[in-house]
Amino acid sequence: MIESLTEINKKWHRKNKCEIKKTATQPVFGSGNPKAKIVFIGEAPGKDEDFQGKPFIGRSGKFLDEMLESVKLKRENVYITNVVKYRPPNNRDPKPEEIKECLPWLIEELNFIKPKVIVTLGRHAMNIFFPKAKISEVHGKVLENKNQEIKCNKFLALYHPAAALYNGSMKKTLEKDFKKLKKFL
Ligand code: URA
Repeated sequence: MIESLTEINKKWHRKNKCEIKKTATQPVFGSGNPKAKIVFIGEAPGKDEDFQGKPFIGRSGKFLDEMLESVKLKRENVYITNVVKYRPPNNRDPKPEEIKECLPWLIEELNFIKPKVIVTLGRHAMNIFFPKAKISEVHGKVLENKNQEIKCNKFLALYHPAAALYNGSMKKTLEKDFKKLKKFL
């Protein structure tokens, strides 16, 4: 029986056959509280994350920290991970086959934590669970997940902090949408 996230990560890192595993400095595992009520899912690690081996520690991570603080949360209270655990070269979007290869890893991670709500950051993470959804229409709304494979049926789709950082109105929208998390605390 799997007893910890460390075991899950070791197992899937060993099994993973992504091309980007070869070019990445190291895997970037999820981090935070394994008993968190809220899990955040980004797309894939960037340069800083690849270098330090932790998710969301670059500029978008600092912004995420600020938003967490705005609802009186700290990283230690939540869990933060990515769909793809290896940095795609030059920060390109992960390819469909890379997402497919990494998805069982993410699902096992989510089912181990069993959060009250899963927050997708950006349209790529959202589209994995809601392929037809448009982020401009569903951001800030709690969505019901019908996929029986995932033991959490509440999702909140948010804009990606990296996109919002350089777009004033998206930044305001993201800060406002973030407050929706209060009801899950
Ligand atoms: N963007 C992501 O989607 N994930 C990270 O870990 C960092 C930036």
